[in-house]
Amino acid sequence: MQTTEEMSLTDLGEFGLIGRIRERFPAPEGVTGIGDDCAVIPQRSGRDTLVSTDMLIEGTHFLRRDIPPYRLGWKSAAVNISDIAAMGGLPTATFLSVALPADLETGWMEEFLRGYADISRRFGVALLGGDTTASPDRICLNVAVLGECPSGAARLRSAARDGDLVCVTGCLGDSAGGLKAILEDVERDADVQALIDRHYLPLPRVAEGLRLAATPGVHAMMDISDGIGSDLKHILEASSPLQDKSSGLPPESPLPGATIDVPSLPLSPALQRVCARLGWDAAALATGGGEDYELLFTCTPEAERSLDVPHTVIGVIRDLPGIEWRGAKGPVAGFDHFRKL
Ligand code: ADP
Ligand code: MG
Repeated sequence: MQTTEEMSLTDLGEFGLIGRIRERFPAPEGVTGIGDDCAVIPQRSGRDTLVSTDMLIEGTHFLRRDIPPYRLGWKSAAVNISDIAAMGGLPTATFLSVALPADLETGWMEEFLRGYADISRRFGVALLGGDTTASPDRICLNVAVLGECPSGAARLRSAARDGDLVCVTGCLGDSAGGLKAILEDVERDADVQALIDRHYLPLPRVAEGLRLAATPGVHAMMDISDGIGSDLKHILEASSPLQDKSSGLPPESPLPGATIDVPSLPLSPALQRVCARLGWDAAALATGGGEDYELLFTCTPEAERSLDVPHTVIGVIRDLPGIEWRGAKGPVAGFDHFRKL
């Protein structure tokens, strides 16, 4: 058997590595630490502070020749604001750290900042600091975001319960379709352009997250960054009584699982048309492709009937382990940074 030292990151996987870090750094009492979309830090004011950070690396998250800097600026802030939305919080401030090659044109950074400013203004978020350094060749960007919510109101990944409905806001797979179109350099008609826009200019579901968090019976919530194939697993693992001793479930409760009805996944008309034309599998893009930044949440059937947020019911949480992808044509996978696809 391999020892930890002999394992490569490919063996361990992105989430295996995060699990190792989490074991070493348990969160202090009353604080939600590693493992959710944000850390939740209670304040004396009766409100909770939400914090998250995300990195974008040239070559891994974007290709400089393909993404206009305005769109990269927008996306860098958007993906972070989305993590606040995922908790049902209100985003308040960001910090921007950049490592830039010395030969980068200043115009590139101007455009980047214009995109960053536009989305920050749209969501009322202030840029309050950061760090600037040189990088040998690649552009590396890191954004930290702060948000807030009433004490105890944050919706955690760990709150799914047996019998909950599994729901999503918006449509799935557009962003993955846009990325595929960019990588395969397909002809850009209006539908393809719409998918590419969804990939580059995601709109975090802040208003929807706030309304969902204010609805009793809405339990677990997260944003879809890696695709529901992967992200739903995070909700199930976090909601397992073995993982989360604060869930209140007795330890002998079985691991939660889910049944997802693949034909009911919400697909935009643009994605359906592009997939029909190019022979792409829309369901595979909707389950395995990431970066939709829609909200994935679980709620009681009664709460679902009273929701004033547009959404689609895609399945149900059940007390059998694993995810049953009803109506799927092939295996369903999500995105992992260290795994080969
Ligand atoms: P998201 O997709 O919502 O940004 P990630 O999958 O990147 O979340 O991370 C999952 C959880 O692990 C988050 O709570 C994040 O803060 C934590 N995490 C990721 N990498 C590290 C790290 N290097 N050190 C500590 N916590 C980490
Ligand atoms: Mg997230």
